[in-house]
Amino acid sequence: MFDYLIVGAGFAGSTLAERLACGMGKRVLLVDKRMHIGGNAYDCYDEAGVLIHKYGPHIFHTNSKQVFDYLSRFTKWRQYQHHVLASVDGQLVPMPINVDTINMLYGLKLSSLEMEGFLESVAEPREQIKTSEDVVISRVGKELYEKFFKNYTRKQWGLDPSELDASVTARVPTRTNRDTRYFTDQYQAMPLNGFTRMFENMLAHENITIMLNADYKDIKDQIPYRQMIFTGPIDEFFEYRFGPLPYRSLQFQFETHDKQVFQQGAVINYPNDYAYTRCTEFKYLTGQVHPKTTVVYEYAQAEGDPYYPVPRPENAELYRQYQSLATSEASKVVFAGRLGTYKYYNMDQVVAQALTLYSKISTASNGHVIGAGNGNGNGLAHALGNGNGHSNGNGNGNGNGKGPIYVPKRSTKSEVIR
Ligand code: FAD
Ligand code: UDP
Repeated sequence: MFDYLIVGAGFAGSTLAERLACGMGKRVLLVDKRMHIGGNAYDCYDEAGVLIHKYGPHIFHTNSKQVFDYLSRFTKWRQYQHHVLASVDGQLVPMPINVDTINMLYGLKLSSLEMEGFLESVAEPREQIKTSEDVVISRVGKELYEKFFKNYTRKQWGLDPSELDASVTARVPTRTNRDTRYFTDQYQAMPLNGFTRMFENMLAHENITIMLNADYKDIKDQIPYRQMIFTGPIDEFFEYRFGPLPYRSLQFQFETHDKQVFQQGAVINYPNDYAYTRCTEFKYLTGQVHPKTTVVYEYAQAEGDPYYPVPRPENAELYRQYQSLATSEASKVVFAGRLGTYKYYNMDQVVAQALTLYSKISTASNGHVIGAGNGNGNGLAHALGNGNGHSNGNGNGNGNGKGPIYVPKRSTKSEVIR
């Protein structure tokens, strides 16, 4: 009998599996319908031997010390600051828009102070900031909005920015200084040996059984368990009772080139040209040294695997219906993760959410604090308590001295790998 059936071996499912097994000694069956662990953060070596991210570029960044410290149990890090260029008006300019972007675009020599004045002169303030169009136009005006945001957003989401929540384009700031980094979080790094190795270290615990290539629907009635944690799409779980939640999908086109470097930076965004949104060259992210290089082009589409929840009011309303259904079923199944809670979350937010959920579970089931938390039974510090001293992964091998888990390359049937 398993204590938990966890559906989905991405950040949400793997964090919860690790915590429940290691922190509380629970027996966990972790199931994923894909052939591998790691969810959308899965990475692997392609035929040329270049480390790639199979589901698009993943860059780790967070302001949460607890999340960073937690993941640091399972990996060493490579310091990495991410930079993005945008191809606009025939030039490659820094994105997010900063003073250099404006100077390059308009042939100016503005200082940071003058950039503030420039932005004031072009901004078209709006009384209410509700949509993704409002956010950008009120900050940089219509011309820059059209050059950098309008068409990229239409390609990415199949919607006009005026139809999307403000939170979507608000992810990308506008700066008056020369900071060309895409993120400014306190912790920015890539797992030294890749995401998949990190997941392997997280899941290398004797209480965790991993089953790949298995839809939970096919096994849930055959394998006894006490409680389910579901990190797949919540609408699918409830058989679309209130109708399908919209997701945005992607198609990835990988290309390997027989040269060391392909493009001028890690990511080049193409707001106005081509059908794809951006092109990423992985070696910038991973630091791998290799005579060849692999890039990926992203084409957004409506159909296919669900990658992005679509943040807009009517979808939030539909999700709320599923959420209240989930609350009524909470004794049997709990939902977590980007698809399980229909939130446009980054990896660190998913880990934080999973740690908080674990904290609630461990407090509720024991009535007292587990492990070496802060003693108040709340929040992340509590979740990070280490019940049996296992979590000491060293980042390049195995935290507990066991062999790496075996992730089958090809199989036509469900496979229990431990
Ligand atoms: P997932 O990783 O989606 O895992 C869910 C798992 O559930 C999947 O493996 C799926 O196969 C499994 N599953 C679903 N249904 C079933 C079923 N019926 N039976 C069995 N298994 C099932 N975040 C960042 O912080 N930085 C980035 O740079 C970044 N870049 C991104 C780029 C792209 C293109 C995308 C799509 C996302 C990016 N993200 C990034 C977000 C990041 O991928 C997510 O925050 C994170 O991976 C979500 O983890 P999760 O566990 O919630 O979901
Ligand atoms: N965006 C844009 N132009 C850009 C970069 C981003 O219009 O050059 C908008 C677009 O709507 C995108 C959103 O900002 O979906 C968030 O960008 P981010 O890079 O965070 O997207 P993600 O990496 O999650 O795909």
